[in-house]
Amino acid sequence: MSYYHIEEEENELLAKVEEISGEIVTLCEQCGICTTSCPMADEMDFTPAGIMHAVKIGDKAVLDSKAIWICASCFTCTVRCPRGIDLAKVTEALRQIHLRKNKDHINLEEVKEEELEEDLPPIAIVSALRKFTG
Ligand code: SF4
Ligand code: SF4
Repeated sequence: MSYYHIEEEENELLAKVEEISGEIVTLCEQCGICTTSCPMADEMDFTPAGIMHAVKIGDKAVLDSKAIWICASCFTCTVRCPRGIDLAKVTEALRQIHLRKNKDHINLEEVKEEELEEDLPPIAIVSALRKFTG
């Protein structure tokens, strides 16, 4: 992860994410509540707060992170953020940047039956389908 700081007006990633999500990412105060609330954080290479930080500084490595695809769009972070930021929309915006380039991350035709857990919650399937429709 790069810590190179890009001035806000030159930060293309921030501008794009804010345009797509409608959220003001710069409001994030890095309190970390989203990370400690997230049920998927242990599986992520960028924590939810880390995703916000990366977007704020224009670190495009976040676009190649597994975290944006691991996010289950459960909205726990959204409900708990003290700054009222809808982080689920931010991760969706990052996925959209991929999908608008026709870079689908999930191809349902390639998912094998044995890869589907018996107790897979329906929301996970719905979320995956939504991500798939680029
Ligand atoms: S909970 Fe909100 S303010 Fe706190 S780090 Fe996460 S996005 Fe930023
Ligand atoms: S919406 Fe995504 S980032 Fe937020 S708590 Fe749920 S899984 Fe974590």
